[in-house]
Amino acid sequence: VGLEGDALGGLLDDLVREFRPARMAGSVPGHIPHLASADFTSFGIAVAMVSGEVFTAGDAGDPFLIQSISKVFSLALALGREDGPDLWSRVLREPSGTAFNSLVQLEAERGIPRNPFINAGALVVTDHLLDAFGNASEEVLGLLSSPTGRSAVNVEAFESELARSERNFALAHFLADLGNLRNPPAEVVRHYVRQCSIEMSCADVARAGLFLANNGVGPSGRVVSASAAKRIGAVMLTCGMYDAAGEFAYRVGLPSKSGVGGGILTVVPGICSICVWSPRLDAHGNSLAGASALAELAERTGWSIF
Ligand code: GLU
Repeated sequence: VGLEGDALGGLLDDLVREFRPARMAGSVPGHIPHLASADFTSFGIAVAMVSGEVFTAGDAGDPFLIQSISKVFSLALALGREDGPDLWSRVLREPSGTAFNSLVQLEAERGIPRNPFINAGALVVTDHLLDAFGNASEEVLGLLSSPTGRSAVNVEAFESELARSERNFALAHFLADLGNLRNPPAEVVRHYVRQCSIEMSCADVARAGLFLANNGVGPSGRVVSASAAKRIGAVMLTCGMYDAAGEFAYRVGLPSKSGVGGGILTVVPGICSICVWSPRLDAHGNSLAGASALAELAERTGWSIF
């Protein structure tokens, strides 16, 4: 890496100065009432090193809704089990090239979602977790909890999003109709939306994602095998940034998963995991300031998988 701790801390402070939004740009998702009032000037970044150190800057301690970043952790829970690979008969590993909540592809692919990070695929993962653990969303919350950090479901955000989840209900019913759901659609959607409503800070998300950079081992022990960690990174690189995954791989060159709460989790294998958060989104649903800051961070550190 060639980057001393002080230098990295200074670099993160530079990124906050450079990328914290000074004026309102981009958008927030219309179907999640809780995000409508997000402060557009929020910007936080945290880097958790495999050595155990955590560097933070800006609003890295403020909780935000992790939304689709949770899909990385539900996939890890599924793949961490003996029967994990069975999941791959129910969901593909191909970039979608359509919006995260698109219905169109599902019909074309006869109920087999393109990947576990679009909503249809994540609903199948949740269904798999319901069979495996019973309380799927609680299991995701458990994986995200750490002795030092805070993670909790924001109940108000959960209930208001659930009340506006027509599209996810449509996807779940469609999956059920096509024979790819084992549990009642309403139950699957409820657990899926609940895991999306988990609130954490950048520092805690970076720490929780560290196992992906560290051969499957996180701060509290092994989460998945080294091989599964590598595979999850591959799916993040190809499918983690909605239908802008190709452009983001070109700009940043690191496996990442974003959520419409404005967070992005990024993995630098063998070195660190990064979480950046700023609420306003580009047209694809990725944090505008967050993506720009990651491009700059990758450029200035030389961190890349290529
Ligand atoms: N809960 C959101 C939804 O299902 C997650 C979207 C996202 O972050 O991609 O629409």
